[in-house]
Amino acid sequence: MAEMVVALERGLELFAPAALQSPLKVPRSSAPGWDKLGISTVQSLLQHYPRYHVDRTRLKTIAELVRSPEGLPPGEVQVHARVLKVTRISTRKGRRMITGRIGDETGSLAVTWFNQDWVARALTPGTEAFFYGRLGLFRGRPQLTAPRFEVVRTGKEPFNVGRIVPVYPATAELSTDQLRRVMWNTLESVGPILDPLPVDLRRRLGLIPRGDALRAIHFPEDKDQVVAARRRIVFDEVFTLQLGLVYRKRKLERTVQGIPHPAPGAGALASSFIEALPFELTGVQRRACDEVESDMGRRFPMHRLIEGEVGSGKTVVALYACLVAVGGGHQAAFMAPTEVLAEQHHGTVDELLTRAFGSEEASNLFAATSRRPVVRLLTGSTPARRREEILTATADGGVDLLIGTHALIQDSVRFARLGIAVVDEQHRFGVHQRKKLRAKAGGGTDGGGGTDGGERPDGGGGTDGGERQGGEPDILVMTATPIPRTLAVTIYGDLDVSVLDELPRGRKPIHTTIAAGDAGRRQAYGLIRSEVAAGRQAFVVYALREDSAKTELRSAKAEAKRLAAEVFPDLQVGLVHGDMASADKETAMAAFRDGATQVLVATTVVEVGVDVPNASVMLIEDAERFGLAQLHQLRGRIGRGRHGSHCVLATNLPLERDDSEPAVALAHDRLKAVASTADGFKLALADLRYRGEGELFGARQSGVPQLKLARVLEHQDVVAMARRLAVSLLTDDPEVTHFANINLGREMRSRWGARELDVVQSG
Ligand code: ADP
Ligand code: MG
Repeated sequence: MAEMVVALERGLELFAPAALQSPLKVPRSSAPGWDKLGISTVQSLLQHYPRYHVDRTRLKTIAELVRSPEGLPPGEVQVHARVLKVTRISTRKGRRMITGRIGDETGSLAVTWFNQDWVARALTPGTEAFFYGRLGLFRGRPQLTAPRFEVVRTGKEPFNVGRIVPVYPATAELSTDQLRRVMWNTLESVGPILDPLPVDLRRRLGLIPRGDALRAIHFPEDKDQVVAARRRIVFDEVFTLQLGLVYRKRKLERTVQGIPHPAPGAGALASSFIEALPFELTGVQRRACDEVESDMGRRFPMHRLIEGEVGSGKTVVALYACLVAVGGGHQAAFMAPTEVLAEQHHGTVDELLTRAFGSEEASNLFAATSRRPVVRLLTGSTPARRREEILTATADGGVDLLIGTHALIQDSVRFARLGIAVVDEQHRFGVHQRKKLRAKAGGGTDGGGGTDGGERPDGGGGTDGGERQGGEPDILVMTATPIPRTLAVTIYGDLDVSVLDELPRGRKPIHTTIAAGDAGRRQAYGLIRSEVAAGRQAFVVYALREDSAKTELRSAKAEAKRLAAEVFPDLQVGLVHGDMASADKETAMAAFRDGATQVLVATTVVEVGVDVPNASVMLIEDAERFGLAQLHQLRGRIGRGRHGSHCVLATNLPLERDDSEPAVALAHDRLKAVASTADGFKLALADLRYRGEGELFGARQSGVPQLKLARVLEHQDVVAMARRLAVSLLTDDPEVTHFANINLGREMRSRWGARELDVVQSG
């Protein structure tokens, strides 16, 4: 048999050096299979874990099998027997058949195979083998049909029978039996497997050695071994991940110079802002503000994520952070994912600042003494002239707070002394984007000169301008797609997390119902009508922008026409979708915000952030097309005011859950989940379960070590424990180079790769 050598690549730090010298030999014919499975090294082979195990520990004698009082045993049977005779025959239909007889000291049994000539060559009379397969009756007599077998060679332990055998993810070219054979041989020859975990730590955690775990995950002696092996491997995966995440975070904190913003005392800009709000902060908002403020006071940059239930009031916390920076003499950038949102944030900020410090026009009159920060909006649709003005003012330090879309960090925007960047609804904003921001930080020593520090609003805190410059800005990321904290620190890695899981008092719950077909839709229209009659407004949301030949789904454009002409001819119906010119989008949003239109037909452009408290009803068409978290987000556009509100999830699916149609049953379960809970954290979790967490990880930066057996949802306790361990280990040994940890450090570096770990220097 032609053999090829599968190349050994990197990543062998996991194993003993001996593994380096033991190339993996596989039949050439199966090469594509190895490729497909991504197995190219001894390590990747050993990490190709079984899908499950089959228990073949109970060997029976032939007599026990064929003379059992209960009749033939069901399922797979296994015997250890000798080949008595083998005959090749051709059937009339041209099939080639092999019949034979095997026997042990208790009796004998017929066996047959079809079209497998090689069997006759392998099983010459006298050969001793383990046979396993199904027992059936042929002309009233027991017979093993096409059993698989493993020939017994003296001195070799059988691995296919008489034990718990692994069943692997396989391919057309590469069967689970082949994989099992290669796995067995490799484990036989690989030699001792290195365990990077210090022994006392391993014992304390009650974990078995890595070598034992790798052997047992493939060829366990009993079920308990599988459990112990899994525990060890899951721990290893999670621990390497956390070690790298915490290492990177610590390294950033050690090496990157931040800006220690002075805490706003009584009467400072940020404090006055909070005092002037038309509402009391909720407890969790207050706590988040404290966390932010304390982060911002440190000498390394803040990297914090605010996870908040929809409508929990994240914007206020973000503004507080911005004003802490501005009060300390720095600039703030506030990035939103869409223009609609950027405009809205600008409007909110303007209104709140006016409430706190008076209007901009008025404050201009007394410019010398005004404390009102200068706020500007910059988006793709800002006219060129205006844009130039804003860019110049920003670079000169004349703008305190710049609000805009993502273009803020990608464009030719320069800040004189950027102190903080807030990123709204962008939970994917990662470590690499932050590197980009660093370039924006401007300042350093080549910055705006810092001569005008005294003119900053509330410049009181700082003493010398030089101190305040050159540091890297703080980062505050906000998301309304909340996930459990353990998950968040894993997915978002090096961010600290604040959670806003409480809504402002007085919010009325959103009543959510499922409506099926035309009848349900007519009811929903009735609801919209009565809410509008009571002075409220409505959203009608569609999955599609335009009609498409490919689907039956309704589209926003077509439906806006129909609703305006046929359903609500007496009402003002607006339309907003992603493809509209920005100015038109803004006009449509403004008309809705001002109450000029009562019904706003929209696509998911209104998914995040849009805040129109008077809107009290939302109809979502083809609701099954949306993700759970997305539905929750959409629904979060209503229920923001004092009025009770209604969300109708409309679907053309049959109203009855249908178990024979898994897709329909699933769609039903998902819609019911949204209708039955108002808890975004719960829904985000459910969504993750439906979609699989791979999606979360998949969309992240590559380069992060892969999880094979570990599931962050299932193993949250392991994640939390590994995180604590990583923190304590890195506190004692920041570079993971102490003698006891040396192999842990090597493994972390090899699994992560230098580029991923060192976000300070690279890029
Ligand atoms: P989200 O967290 O979804 O981004 P927003 O920041 O848009 O929520 O806030 C939603 C609404 O709640 C806004 O109209 C905001 O002014 C209001 N709000 C924020 N905090 C409070 C509070 N503590 N009490 C009452 N209303 C609040
Ligand atoms: Mg928001």
